[in-house]
Amino acid sequence: MYRTHTCGELRLANVGQTVTLAGWVQRTRKMGGMTFVDVRDRYGITQIVFEDKPTSSSSEKGGNLFEQANRLGREYVVQVTGCVSERSNKNQNLPTGDIEIIATQLNVLNESVTPPFTIEDQSDGGDDLRMKYRYLDLRRTPVRRNLELRHKMTMEVRRYLDSLGFLEIETPMLIGSTPEGARDFVVPSRMNPGQFYALPQSPQTLKQLLMVSGMDRYFQIVKCFRDEDLRADRQPEFTQIDCEMSFVTQEDILQTFEGMAKHLFRQLRGIELEGAFPRMTWADAMKYYGSDKPDTRFDMRFVELKDVFQKAPGFSVFDEATYIGGICAKGQAVYTRKQLDQLTDFVKRPQIGAKGLVYARVQEDGTVKSSVDKFYGPEVLGELKERMQAEPGDLILILSGDDAMRTRKQLCELRLEMGARMGLRDKNKFALLWVIDFPMFEWSEEEGRLMATHHPFTHPKDEDIPLLDTDPAAVRADAYDMVCNGVEVGGGSIRIHDPELQDKMFRILGFTEERAQEQFGFLMNAFKYGAPPHGGLAYGLDRWVSLFAGLDSIRDCIAFPKNNSGRDVMLDAPARLEQKQLDELYLDIKKLPE
Ligand code: ASP
Repeated sequence: MYRTHTCGELRLANVGQTVTLAGWVQRTRKMGGMTFVDVRDRYGITQIVFEDKPTSSSSEKGGNLFEQANRLGREYVVQVTGCVSERSNKNQNLPTGDIEIIATQLNVLNESVTPPFTIEDQSDGGDDLRMKYRYLDLRRTPVRRNLELRHKMTMEVRRYLDSLGFLEIETPMLIGSTPEGARDFVVPSRMNPGQFYALPQSPQTLKQLLMVSGMDRYFQIVKCFRDEDLRADRQPEFTQIDCEMSFVTQEDILQTFEGMAKHLFRQLRGIELEGAFPRMTWADAMKYYGSDKPDTRFDMRFVELKDVFQKAPGFSVFDEATYIGGICAKGQAVYTRKQLDQLTDFVKRPQIGAKGLVYARVQEDGTVKSSVDKFYGPEVLGELKERMQAEPGDLILILSGDDAMRTRKQLCELRLEMGARMGLRDKNKFALLWVIDFPMFEWSEEEGRLMATHHPFTHPKDEDIPLLDTDPAAVRADAYDMVCNGVEVGGGSIRIHDPELQDKMFRILGFTEERAQEQFGFLMNAFKYGAPPHGGLAYGLDRWVSLFAGLDSIRDCIAFPKNNSGRDVMLDAPARLEQKQLDELYLDIKKLPE
């Protein structure tokens, strides 16, 4: 037996017992006639004391126990036996801080070279080293805790879905292209030279086939792959909790998965989410928050102001704008000129792209002082105050532009910035909602055609089906996203199960009959054999864990993540293949750009 206890387990109640622990040397401190060694494992840290006195093992190889302890380096793997004793100098910060082990035996199980960074909870050696030596980074409590949370979450997901009769079914990783709108990662087939598999962007079509098979409640905790340009919070491979149900309406799905969110909050955070999640149409989300994933931890909704200002022309920026919108920052009239200049710089940053910022302070006497005073009299400014429901002490911030959607997105950034500055985006507060009634299609400038907002299998809202022929851009879908604190944590839709409607959809999306057949023939064919009405959704596991762990990025809830350029710097992947491998695959590499 290597150990009788873990390094996180011993308490005052164990005093007097002889125990054996095993773990890594976090740190040694020599103080006069004693050496203190912190030994760490997954469960915690225990202090071991080596006293400078002859012991029975002094004749053994390696000298006496004390000398042996003094030779320990950081991250040596050791096995220590000794007696648990009460500490005179207790450490309140450690669960084991009331006790220490007076060592009687030390066994070095393995040595370690000096680690590239000091492995302690508070120190991490910086991003590059952490990624290169991730296995060492994972020895640190904050990172390990995220993996523990992730484990608990997957266990609770399985428990919840199993209790409702869902079956966990694996679908293949080597498939053909899935149309989720991103690029596929492809895998050459040696046995079928010149042909490629694609890694799934999601098991979308496969789970729909499972519905045709009668597996009416399916889920899978599954890796998905998308070859996208990486943004801060994306990984080329990520994990979905992928679900599908048959014989359900949108309402059934929302209820089932709202239940799952509540279950997770209860089990993992001890939070009871009361009542049904609010539902907001996509149109309202865009109108009031400029985003399809509004952060509803705070209000500060957009108010449209075009009619207020265009009553009294004179300020050309507003006169020419197609959209003017404002937000009211409660109690922020104290903002100084300098702070307002900073906000102006913020909205003008290229990533946001606003041309400028107009502000108005409501003063203690109720009058309004604004940056556009020279264009507008007290009447217009009074109406502005009314419309914004602003009170003395409030700050009104206004953006305008000639593209309503773009301006709303800019105002969304400003709203989020103000929310953060005002401390309204508390990581321990959770505001969940469903965003529903997404548009079926969105226009792609790049492709010069309509694209599916969600995916081509999404069912249009029944009442909008006639619009498919006349005004497809106006068609809304039975599609929904679950949003928490401004993050899309899951999304899905009711699917088309009628081959004719699906055919029509492909045509609107610009597929020729041959291409639709080539790409989705298998699904269309399956649908001929009795497809049940069905729908589902997928949760982003990484996002859920990072939300619960209060992380800014999903990276730290993934054991071995890729960096921002999609590289695994630890494994040094991706990498070139050897010529022999290329030959086997009948692959030639084109000359690479310099
Ligand atoms: N396959 C979809 C996605 O990955 C989710 C769904 O519609 O179930 O976003």
